[in-house]
Amino acid sequence: MREAVTPESVTPEQPVIYASGLVLPVSGPAIRDGAVLVRDGRISSIGTISDLERDNPNAEVRRFPRQTIVPGAVNVHAHLGFRRGDGPEGGPFSKWLAALIERLPEKEAWTAEAARNSAREAVEAGTTFMAESSPYGECLPQLAESGMVGTVYAEFFPHDIGDGTPEEAVNFIFEEARKLREGLPERVDCAVSVHSTYTVDPESSRLAARRSREMGWRLAVHISESPEEVEFVRNGTGGLTAIFGSNEWGGTGLSPVLYAENIELLSPGTIAAHLATEVSEEDIGVLARTGTAAAHCPRSNDFLDCGVSPVPRMIERGVRVGIGTDGLWSSPSLNVFEEALFAVDLHGFDGATGLELATIGGARALGVGDETGSLEAGKWADLAVVDVAPSGSEPERQILEAAADGGVVATVAGGRLIYNRDEG
Ligand SMILES: [Zn+2]
Repeated sequence: MREAVTPESVTPEQPVIYASGLVLPVSGPAIRDGAVLVRDGRISSIGTISDLERDNPNAEVRRFPRQTIVPGAVNVHAHLGFRRGDGPEGGPFSKWLAALIERLPEKEAWTAEAARNSAREAVEAGTTFMAESSPYGECLPQLAESGMVGTVYAEFFPHDIGDGTPEEAVNFIFEEARKLREGLPERVDCAVSVHSTYTVDPESSRLAARRSREMGWRLAVHISESPEEVEFVRNGTGGLTAIFGSNEWGGTGLSPVLYAENIELLSPGTIAAHLATEVSEEDIGVLARTGTAAAHCPRSNDFLDCGVSPVPRMIERGVRVGIGTDGLWSSPSLNVFEEALFAVDLHGFDGATGLELATIGGARALGVGDETGSLEAGKWADLAVVDVAPSGSEPERQILEAAADGGVVATVAGGRLIYNRDEG
């Protein structure tokens, strides 16, 4: 039996060694009987259990002898405010979205509870860093209290704000985000999202993207998610024209990616979700040239009949790609490792690529690759313990399979034990 340690009793100041049968840093070779020394929330060193114990006799040792330690999962695109089991039916996308919008008034009563449950589910699936998008940042409290770190992107809908001028809408959402940023835990923050090409008019989009760059904030957007979006942006027709009534700016003759570039949405600070429908070689070239990162959400794309994002080509051309789960009304779980396993099978990747996408790939996509996403001295101690002792070939695939199947037994973010299955 391990000594019982509750999340509260392990403070970041207390040196702790997390030891397991295998440590898989992702950024370097696997370590049998490995360990990670955590001090002040960060990884102080990494090596074998015997070396770390010998050099740090005063550290508390937490042992997971039959398990594997991996970096915590990075979810680059999620929505916390949905719940499992009562969402609208799947695709086509515009039908699903219309059903979602119809239920927004009813949803207000349970959004906070759903967000709390979604965040808990993510933590129990080994997630340590999350990029969450919600209307006006409504799910920020639940992300902040979950113990995960990351950014909530506050979506805004200009036609709902004041007289609906772009300046007024953008001033409003940045003031909201500024207020939301006050008093947050370390490593939790708030930025702004331009929800999509079809919900936010070009001028509001442009102003919000410019303001984000001025502030040094990252920007979240949905781009090229659905066939209907492609049709709306290109021709100004189709299922999305009717939904918002006043979105008359479609029919540009461009692909959503080229249109997004025209309205200045694309930059190295931009995380573009989905890129699932009709993303061409030219589009991929634009993403690569502008440094835009991609959030790959393959299970949501599958559920909503949105196509398959050309992730292998994006990676080949140097686009940073991470894994996002989207929310529970379009996806079966908030488990990034499970989503990555789906991507592995979809694209024919090996397990190592899948585990990279779920961890360091996501961290790089969000511009935090120097701080998290792999187990290296100096980075934050963001890690997950998975109940698997891999043998034979493709240990990473075995880890993804175990983590996808409820096998995460502990989650540590910034050195804090935020989940320990043995203690409920
Ligand atoms: Zn989304």
